[in-house]
Amino acid sequence: MADNTAFSLLKQRSIGTTRAVFQHALTGEPPHFNDQTPRSLYIHIPFCTHKCHYCDFYSIVDTRDRQEKFASRLVRELIAQSKLAPLPLRTIFVGGGTPSLLRPDLWTKILDALHDHFDMSLIDANEGEFSVECNPETVTQELAHVLRSGSVNRASLGAQSFNAAHLKTLERWHDPEKVSSAINTLQQAGIKRCSLDLIYAIPGQTIEHLNNDLQTALSMPIEHISAYALTYEPGTAMTARLVRGEFTQAPDELEAEMYDHTIATLRSNGFERYEVSNHAKPGAQCMHNLAYWRQQDWLAIGPSASGHFQQHRWKNTPRLDDYLNKDDEGFAPICDHEPPNARRELMDLLMTTIRLSEGTDAISVMKTADQLNASQKLMRAAIMCADQGWIRNANSERWTLSDEGFLFADRVAREFIGALIED
Ligand code: SF4
Repeated sequence: MADNTAFSLLKQRSIGTTRAVFQHALTGEPPHFNDQTPRSLYIHIPFCTHKCHYCDFYSIVDTRDRQEKFASRLVRELIAQSKLAPLPLRTIFVGGGTPSLLRPDLWTKILDALHDHFDMSLIDANEGEFSVECNPETVTQELAHVLRSGSVNRASLGAQSFNAAHLKTLERWHDPEKVSSAINTLQQAGIKRCSLDLIYAIPGQTIEHLNNDLQTALSMPIEHISAYALTYEPGTAMTARLVRGEFTQAPDELEAEMYDHTIATLRSNGFERYEVSNHAKPGAQCMHNLAYWRQQDWLAIGPSASGHFQQHRWKNTPRLDDYLNKDDEGFAPICDHEPPNARRELMDLLMTTIRLSEGTDAISVMKTADQLNASQKLMRAAIMCADQGWIRNANSERWTLSDEGFLFADRVAREFIGALIED
């Protein structure tokens, strides 16, 4: 199987229109709601103080002159999409960019609109999850109180490393000392659930350095850690510097050793891996990301935000100017639309669920594969992955990665997706 063929198929998108995705809301025709009715909402705030060198997220350096217009536009989109979510929201995740860079008065405006137009009862009762990504430098008492007053109950802080030299290599601008005080400020305001993001395999980083980062993180009152290996995305400054020879990439063996060390250290401190790169204390998994990985429906607002609604997938325009100045009855212009397609839905499901410790519901995916005349090829792929030792048992009700298989999660996903490509 040609690995790239599988992923390029997933990337084939037809350009669509807002109307194709949100026809029900725009025509006034009531949508058919079912268990897939969106219970999750993603909001993208694109502003950052500066561009970190490894980052390929959609973000723009904030000059604060467009924040006000942005918040008004976001509220218009939020009102438009609220028609698609009549049931209480279970999860909201605000990512970016740096959401904590948004002015507190504009946060209040957005949070008020959320309460006015969505059913926030589960989140208000603390039975749902409302997460906001924060940069440690930008967390103030005022912001923490505004967020908590608007029902935010979880914060995800981009620590990345506690080693000043490694942060410098990443061109990540924050003082590592600020992480602890930001958590303290958030928790004093009532946002008790905190998660840290860490990056490993940074050029020059040793196992000892990584261990220092992990121990520092574990000394803090947090319940969740996301630890990702540094990746060199095309078009980033980090990749350009690598090509220029400014540093060398961590060898694969060291990266694998760092991954194993991270799992063992976190596990021995009560953090279980529930996804390839995500670790939580019992009951503290990120519900929003689980909804995404399990391919449930979620709404998405803001520039470059991607959503999944009744088997339509779409991506909002990433250009802030287009986002601010064009709209279709409140909805954002769409730059990417994938209409319902059972084969691609199954590929997406396999690609994300196999990365979870709970694994993939093999019975259900085989049933769908059968309808697509692909069950034999899919089973052959599962048997091959089991023979390699990557998944535990091809004949069990769930396909789960073995400890070694977690290092080959992308390869397993490619095998599954390849099995679903039509001859
Ligand atoms: S703060 Fe986050 S989103 Fe902004 S540039 Fe850095 S990595 Fe990218």
